Amino acid sequence: MIIHLNKSIDNDKAEALGRQYEAICMHDGARYVLITSSKVKELDANLKSLTEASFISDTDIQLASRQYNPDTRTIDLGVVTLGGQTANTIVITGPCSVESEEQIEQAATLCIELGVKVLRAGAYKPRTSPYTFQGLGLDGLKLLDKMRTKHGLKIITEVRDSTHIDEVIEYADIIQIGAKAMYDQGILRKCGKANKPVLIKRGFGSTLQEFVQSAEFVLSSGNPDVMLCERGIRTFETRTRFTLDLCGVAWLREHTNLPVILDPSHAMGYAYGVSDLARACVAMGVDGLLIETHPNPKAAKSDAEQQLNFEQFRALHKSLGVVAGAVGRHIV
Ligand code: PEP
Ligand code: MN
Repeated sequence: MIIHLNKSIDNDKAEALGRQYEAICMHDGARYVLITSSKVKELDANLKSLTEASFISDTDIQLASRQYNPDTRTIDLGVVTLGGQTANTIVITGPCSVESEEQIEQAATLCIELGVKVLRAGAYKPRTSPYTFQGLGLDGLKLLDKMRTKHGLKIITEVRDSTHIDEVIEYADIIQIGAKAMYDQGILRKCGKANKPVLIKRGFGSTLQEFVQSAEFVLSSGNPDVMLCERGIRTFETRTRFTLDLCGVAWLREHTNLPVILDPSHAMGYAYGVSDLARACVAMGVDGLLIETHPNPKAAKSDAEQQLNFEQFRALHKSLGVVAGAVGRHIV
């Protein structure tokens, strides 16, 4: 249950009530809010007298639920706003990993050429093998910072584990929590205290319920700016890298108030399918796309097979406006 305490209740009192009722206590900008397990369906008389409103939830998808807040959250990314009353579909692009200044400069230049406002690239890569390129770490973050300053781009980059979470929070404009980090509650809670938007990628073995409950860790820690990213789940199919769960996307849009971003690059795993999938995603009216691009995909140090070259991305980008227009949305 979500309980809006009376506005006159201060921090000490709210915290004490939180402990008494085994609830998370947070401030939502207007008042203190207690959140109990969704199994709680009734307020006791004492708490009722201190309460402005209360909301029953079917499951522990609570703050993210349309039952609680029917409107899609508005997320201000600085250069553009997503969700809410906007019909914006943001296109985010860049390489899988920052590899060198030359490579990330080329990626940034492509963004500027096409009016793409957010550059993606990982500096701490969550690789499947310890023997492959692990990312440039802090040096990579500094190169991304340089691109932000030089080109006025916003940066999304991922946090892999707790060892560098503060660095990523400091350098990123949008913090990406990778598919493998989705269950890391240390990362989720810390991002919940950060004053920056967070994009959570769905773990490839996670149910929709588990995925959105990860978002609940961030939201209930006080950060309202959370986006969900479907990036493919593991199924019996092995010919494609993962299976892009568009049914799941429809479910997320129906049941949650969080903007939904689609990553067809990791789902497909091969460049040849990415543009068609991206258009299909835009036709669903999603809030954004995350597409991997590389100046020379064959030479990429991670995810070489799935990155679009710049020609492929230019062609894709050009076609997206038409698809978006057909479903009443704008590419930004
Ligand atoms: C990435 O965005 O490059 C990445 C590693 O994604 P995921 O966490 O979805 O595998
Ligand atoms: Mn990648």
